[in-house]
Amino acid sequence: MHEMSYVVRFVNLALQKAQENRAVRVRSLTVSVGEMTDIVPEYLHKYYPEAVSGTIMEGSALKVEVIPVRIRCAGCGEVYHPEKGNAYACPVCGDSAGEICGGRGMQLTALEMETEDG
Ligand SMILES: [Zn+2]
Repeated sequence: MHEMSYVVRFVNLALQKAQENRAVRVRSLTVSVGEMTDIVPEYLHKYYPEAVSGTIMEGSALKVEVIPVRIRCAGCGEVYHPEKGNAYACPVCGDSAGEICGGRGMQLTALEMETEDG
């Protein structure tokens, strides 16, 4: 399962940010996952406790936001969410030669932490 490596990567990134902010504890980590990726959010949740074990993130909550796919139409420039019902074509002009412009990859979007001075 590649989700474990994603979790480890984001936990490390979060720990680095927490350290930069002199956090003593992390309450929650929020990541956004593109709808186009093959990352399964429930696996992220499954591996998270293991990945944060023994760190200042232990016991924190993982929040996963799924970002919908966006396509920019090659014909008219419309940005839309592809629907199976119309074969993922542009709802404005019917062109299906669009380019994916959102909903890919995974990003760290928020980190809720506690610092020494409260
Ligand atoms: Zn179009």
